[in-house]
Amino acid sequence: MIVRRRWTAAATTAILISAALSHPGSAAAAPAPAATPITLAATETALVRVQLRDQAQLDRLVATGADLANRPRARDGRILADLVLTGAQLADLTAQGATATQIVQRAGDGSRHFADSVRAAQARTAAGLRAPGTGQRTTAAVGVDTLAVQQAYWWTTGGQTFLQAQVATTATDDPDVEITVSWRTADGTTGSFPLYRFEDSGEYQYHYNLPQPMPSRPVQLTATSSLGGVSRAVTPALWPNATPPPLPAGYQKDFIDAYLTPVDIQARIKRLARQYRDLVDVIDLPNKTQGYRRNAVAYLGDPAVSAVVVESVRFGDQGMNGVQVRAVDPGRPNRPLTVGYRDRVLTVTLATDAAGKTVSTTDDVAAAINARQANRFRATVEDGSTGLPMPVAGPARLDDGLQGTEVPAKPWTVQALRLGVHRDGSRVGVLAYSQEHAREWATPLVTLEFAERMLANARTDPATRQLLEQVDIFVIPTVNPDGANYSFNDYNFQRKNLVNHCTGPARDPRYRTSWGVDVNRNYTVGSYFDGYVGASANCLSGSYAGTAELSEAESGNVIALAKAHPNIKFAMNVHSYGGYFMWPPGAYRADGRITLPRPSIDESTLFLNSARRIVGAIAQERGTVTWPSQTGPVADVLYSAAGNSADQLYYELGIFAWDFEVGNDRWNPATGEWEGVGFQPPFDEAHGESQEYAGGLVELVRVARDHAAEAATG
Ligand SMILES: [Zn+2]
Repeated sequence: MIVRRRWTAAATTAILISAALSHPGSAAAAPAPAATPITLAATETALVRVQLRDQAQLDRLVATGADLANRPRARDGRILADLVLTGAQLADLTAQGATATQIVQRAGDGSRHFADSVRAAQARTAAGLRAPGTGQRTTAAVGVDTLAVQQAYWWTTGGQTFLQAQVATTATDDPDVEITVSWRTADGTTGSFPLYRFEDSGEYQYHYNLPQPMPSRPVQLTATSSLGGVSRAVTPALWPNATPPPLPAGYQKDFIDAYLTPVDIQARIKRLARQYRDLVDVIDLPNKTQGYRRNAVAYLGDPAVSAVVVESVRFGDQGMNGVQVRAVDPGRPNRPLTVGYRDRVLTVTLATDAAGKTVSTTDDVAAAINARQANRFRATVEDGSTGLPMPVAGPARLDDGLQGTEVPAKPWTVQALRLGVHRDGSRVGVLAYSQEHAREWATPLVTLEFAERMLANARTDPATRQLLEQVDIFVIPTVNPDGANYSFNDYNFQRKNLVNHCTGPARDPRYRTSWGVDVNRNYTVGSYFDGYVGASANCLSGSYAGTAELSEAESGNVIALAKAHPNIKFAMNVHSYGGYFMWPPGAYRADGRITLPRPSIDESTLFLNSARRIVGAIAQERGTVTWPSQTGPVADVLYSAAGNSADQLYYELGIFAWDFEVGNDRWNPATGEWEGVGFQPPFDEAHGESQEYAGGLVELVRVARDHAAEAATG
């Protein structure tokens, strides 16, 4: 039974994320040698896996608005973080003791992988081819501390068996406790590996490690601590140990053969609606987005010396691209500063003294433009130019800087697909939505593959037909199309939307790739504005929360759809990357790490048991196993994400709301390392993610059906 609850919190200030993994005992451990030397030009931007020197280094990064791609993890006792950074920033970090271990993705990789995927799809078309909880809790007091084995799971994938364990010591305040896990297989082989202390927001959570390769199935595990604590021996359990029904013969899948831009997605939605008229409605969501648009802007002067930033009030495409601005010397003494606009030229005539020398400052010029041309232009003094003499300059042409030529420059209507035989609210509803974050290119591939599987098989597979009889499915393939267009055409690491709320010097076009609101920090429950951790008031931060809760069209659309269809009881928010499966609570307050209310025991059981089924379905495709350490509440397994959508859906609308982070790390047997796949991997990997996670969404539909059937029979 679903408990509806309304939850509110008072506004306070927000504090930093502080997720920590430390193991002082091995702080001097040398990093494993990288397979290839890692080099990055000073101005090149890339997604890099970096082994940080210590917790303080991570805290500094977070404080300065670093773009963390996933949760920092332990590796040889050190903190491992995936960061979007420039070569210069990487050099700074390296000088401070950090080590780059993997270039996950370079800036140019996204467009190359996109172009490769389109070329391959065209070649295939030309050739007439289609694309390819908790375990045992056992304690034993022997030494000074007591150890509890909270999780011990094993699984086999790609012929390799793995073991993962999570152990808590009662010596929670002692940062020097070292815990070692010893294991034994059925044939008597033994071995051991260290666990690392995991702290979050300054509080001890447990000791754990990444999944460890095993020669065969482990049958016994014991943990020992440096304080003398020994756990009881436990038998590791099979993870996820839930196998969905095999796909029936003739089951149709694989409808994705290239990365899809928002324009492509629009066309796909239209085609599905035409092809499966009896099973599909297209819903235009109520809030049009800003569109792929920006204000036109130019530097008046030389930003390296002294300049004013002049931008149009309207967007560049609204007749403002190409408008000129100049600062001129009147050539006569004792003239006042004047501003005039004629024939698409903004002319600033500088003031002169008795000797005829120009005397206006940058501040005078910006103020004069704002005072006299406020309906057309906004001016700010370039950061570093305040108080300097304004030079004679220009003409400079204002431009919005957007590179995309095939994107309509107008407000965008975000669309949802509604799939089902009975689309009247009488059946339990499931909502799948993706690409809140623009750069997560694989995520709409997941939701569109899922939608088309349901539709195509409805005609040929009785089980699919039955699901569509019993469930009402809603799919928003791209929540943030403007940001996605920018990611495809201008800056592939764009995460946020395209709305620029910055004021003053932060509007300098040098910050153009840092503008926008993080759509998944703009919701109303456990938000930055309520005092929760994991969002920012800095308009240039990767997790900028916006000007207010639901200030953005994109977040408003998700909630409007859920509210308009109260039969929706299950939701999946699809992100990338890292391989996570999560549910509420998704945020906590920094002071005391107080999370949003925990689900009841019954609801927690439903979340975990359903997660095991869905993780099992994902694994069916190519053996990808989402780790037990990355399956659980967001606040526990990833980080606090203030104001995320799943929390609003769950706490305010009573929807069982999950999150996927598709794109699991891949095991490299040659190096013995787990490797990150990034936001825009080579298309083969993105294709694999779309296939496996679409299978997970089909299992979510079965979970919803089963839950509705149980509720109906009481
Ligand atoms: Zn995301």
